[in-house]
Amino acid sequence: MNKKPISPPELKNDCFALPAGVSWTPVSEAHTLLQERLSAIAATETVLITESLGRILAKPVVALRSNPPSPNSAVDGYAIRGADFGDGPHIVPCVKGRSAAGQPYSGSVPKGHAVRILTGATMPDGVDTVILQEDVTATEGQIAFHGPLKIGSNAREAGEDVLAGDVILRQSRVVTPADLAVLAASGISEVTAYKPLRVGVLSTGDELVEAGDTATGDQIYDANRPMLLAMLHQLGYIPIDLGRAPDDREHIRNTLNEAATNVDVILTSGGASAGDEDHMSALLSENGGLMQWRMAIKPGRPLALAMWQGVPIFGLPGNPVAAMVCTLVFARPALALLSGQGWFWPEGTMLPASFSKFKKAGRREYLRARVNDGKVEVFQSEGSGRISGLSWADGLVELPDEAAEITPGTQVRYMSFTDFGL
Ligand code: AMP
Ligand code: MG
Repeated sequence: MNKKPISPPELKNDCFALPAGVSWTPVSEAHTLLQERLSAIAATETVLITESLGRILAKPVVALRSNPPSPNSAVDGYAIRGADFGDGPHIVPCVKGRSAAGQPYSGSVPKGHAVRILTGATMPDGVDTVILQEDVTATEGQIAFHGPLKIGSNAREAGEDVLAGDVILRQSRVVTPADLAVLAASGISEVTAYKPLRVGVLSTGDELVEAGDTATGDQIYDANRPMLLAMLHQLGYIPIDLGRAPDDREHIRNTLNEAATNVDVILTSGGASAGDEDHMSALLSENGGLMQWRMAIKPGRPLALAMWQGVPIFGLPGNPVAAMVCTLVFARPALALLSGQGWFWPEGTMLPASFSKFKKAGRREYLRARVNDGKVEVFQSEGSGRISGLSWADGLVELPDEAAEITPGTQVRYMSFTDFGL
């Protein structure tokens, strides 16, 4: 039989060029699709405010109490009725006793009199204005000061900060330390929060071994799983280690079946393209209603989105750099929607570049970057296997979908890992 001679493929100048006639999804379009399709899947629970730091509120919080609950003094000094004293010097008798924080003056202050008052003390009846003690000469039983006084000065009105019945924190807010102060001050001791999502992480690939194990020259240590589990932890989710699976469809199937009973979302890495050993995408298209999103993004590109027995799966690329970028750019905002936090996408900061790059039109690029002396520098190599660059970087620089020519001084968008919540 005559075998047809084969010849090597023509070498392309730019092997990263986007294939002709294939439609690639721009990042912003993918983001719109995620926003349209995903919503909170997390259950809710009641938690003490002391346990609520970093939790996502499942309901708006309404103040039970005004702050301050009654008018009080903002300074240490003497309280008078402002309207009783005009311009010029005044010598005024003081009533016996004083008003201190938590120990109010019980009587009513007569017209033309002053009462000693301390910061945070309730304003007694009959007075509305506080003169700073530094602005007063005090002797036994009387004080001297100069008018005019601004009526109401140095006094806080009841509810001037928060009114009972006001919405103090919106639904979906992630509780901060400052929020705890507002909640406590407003008489709130418990909030309704979304339960943190349990997110499983699975690595796939015959070449992977566990850190600490001996490895042959053909094997590599699983770098994605520790990174992804740690990212999830920092983002406030409950990371669930699903281990490693070889490139074996049955094995992956069993692992996913078991995981689906125990987690809310699954992140996998590896095997997400359409190669011979890309069992993740093959399995997901057989059984999980796979949506293979070909993203117009570098690094990254294939992202396998599927549902496995009701559990959303994000099939990330295996390259650690692409896995991290795709987690930040797609899985992180998607998880925010699923967790009840709502859409999350950092603005970043426009800063001058200290590097040069010519970028072609047609895809968005994320480079490992950090800020040095107010300028954005990028890692020496764009190779997506260069794991060391991830740890060198403090963030990413986002280059737009369209063509861009960057020279030192060009403003570029820098998104720090902190901006992403890491
Ligand atoms: P894949 O997406 O499975 O084709 O993998 C792409 C590249 O990433 C290959 O060089 C893999 O060896 C590598 N890779 C896949 N998974 C991991 C992992 N968990 N840790 C480190 N490298 C990985
Ligand atoms: Mg693989």
